[in-house]
Amino acid sequence: MTTLTSEFAVERVKKSRVAEVDFNNLEFGRHISDHMVVVDYENGQWGSPSIVPFGEMKFSPAMLSLHYGQAVFEGMKAFHTKDGSINIFRPHKHLDRFNKSLHRMCMPSVPEELWLSSLKRLIEIDKEWVPKTEGASLYIRPFMFATESRLGVKVSDTFKFVILTSPVGPYQAKPYRLKVENKYVRTAEGGTGFAKCAGNYGGAFYPTQIAREEGFDQILWTDSKEHKYIDEVGMMNVMFVLNGKLVTPQLSTAILDGITRDSILTLAKEMAGFSVEERKVSIDEIEQGFIKGTLTEAFGTGTAAVVAPISVIHINGTDYQIPSAGPTSFQLQVKQKLHNIRMGLEPDTHEWNYLVKV
Ligand SMILES: *Cc1c(COP(=O)(O)O)cnc(C)c1O
Repeated sequence: MTTLTSEFAVERVKKSRVAEVDFNNLEFGRHISDHMVVVDYENGQWGSPSIVPFGEMKFSPAMLSLHYGQAVFEGMKAFHTKDGSINIFRPHKHLDRFNKSLHRMCMPSVPEELWLSSLKRLIEIDKEWVPKTEGASLYIRPFMFATESRLGVKVSDTFKFVILTSPVGPYQAKPYRLKVENKYVRTAEGGTGFAKCAGNYGGAFYPTQIAREEGFDQILWTDSKEHKYIDEVGMMNVMFVLNGKLVTPQLSTAILDGITRDSILTLAKEMAGFSVEERKVSIDEIEQGFIKGTLTEAFGTGTAAVVAPISVIHINGTDYQIPSAGPTSFQLQVKQKLHNIRMGLEPDTHEWNYLVKV
C-alpha cells in the first residue's frame, strides 16, 4: 500500500539556517524554519504535497484571497518530550477547527491523512528547529488561501494549503491592563468570530490601536448588541476565578473555540474542588466581583501564551486591580499541569499528545 507520506516531493535547503537561531532568546515568530509544506487544490481535489525550502512564492495580484479575504489559519505547537520524541499537541482537534473555519469561508476541507502526514513529514525534516530549552516549543502555522486570479467577487476554485513553523520561547509578557470595549466589535453572533479567518484580525487592529493609545495592552471584547457580556480578550479566550469557581463565557458564533480553553476546562474539572461554569459572563458581574472581593483571578488562554495573566480591568472609569497570580493560583497550577502532560511528565489520559519519533 502506498501511503501519502511516500508521495511527498521533498526539496531540501542547500544550507540550513538553524545555526543563526539563538534558542535561548526566541522572539515569537521571528525565525521561520528551513522548510514548508505546500499543497494545491484545483479541479475539486487536492494535489500531491511537497516540502520545499521556505521562501517567496509567486502570485497573481488578482488572487481572490487578497481582495475578498478567503483565508484561514491555525496555530498549534510541538514540544521535545523527555523521551526524545517530538509531541504535536492535539492535532486532530486543530484539524477539526480548521475544517470548521474553512467550511464557514466556503473553502474545501483538509483530509486528516493529508494533515497528519504533512505535519509529521515537516517536523521530521525540520526536527533541529524544535527547541529543547525549557518552556520553548515549535509553533506550527497551517493556513489556506484562495489563489484563483480574477476580479469578480466569487468563491475561488483554487486554493493553496501551506504549513510554516517557527521556534518560540516561553511566554513572558507582563500582565495585561484591559479596556472593556463599548464601541467597536470584533465580530457579532452569526458572523465569523468562531472561525480563525484572516479578516477577523485585520478588523481588530484599529480598536486595539486606540486602546493602546489610551494606555491599555488589550481589549476585553463584549457582545455586539449591548456591550454587556464578555466574549474574549484580545486574540485569546478569557477565564475568571469568581467565588472559587472557574468561570468562562460559553461558546457562541462570536467566540473562537480555543483548544487551550478546552484543555484547561477539561483539566479544571479533574482538579480537586474546582467547579467550572461555562455561561454568559457580564461586565456587571465582574465589577461586583471586584467590589466584593470575590474575583481572585483573570487570565487569557491561547496556544501562544497558554495562560496570560490580567492585572487590571478598566470598567466604567475605574481601574480594578487583580492581585498577581501566586504559585498556588489556579492559572499557574493548570499551566504546569498542561506543561507536564505535553512534555510526557504526567500521563496523557485524554490522548492529546501525537508523538513523532525522530
Ligand atoms: C486562536 C485564538 C484563540 C485561542 O485558541 P487556541 O486554540 O487556544 O490557541 C482565542 N481567540 C481567538 C480570537 C483566536 O484567534
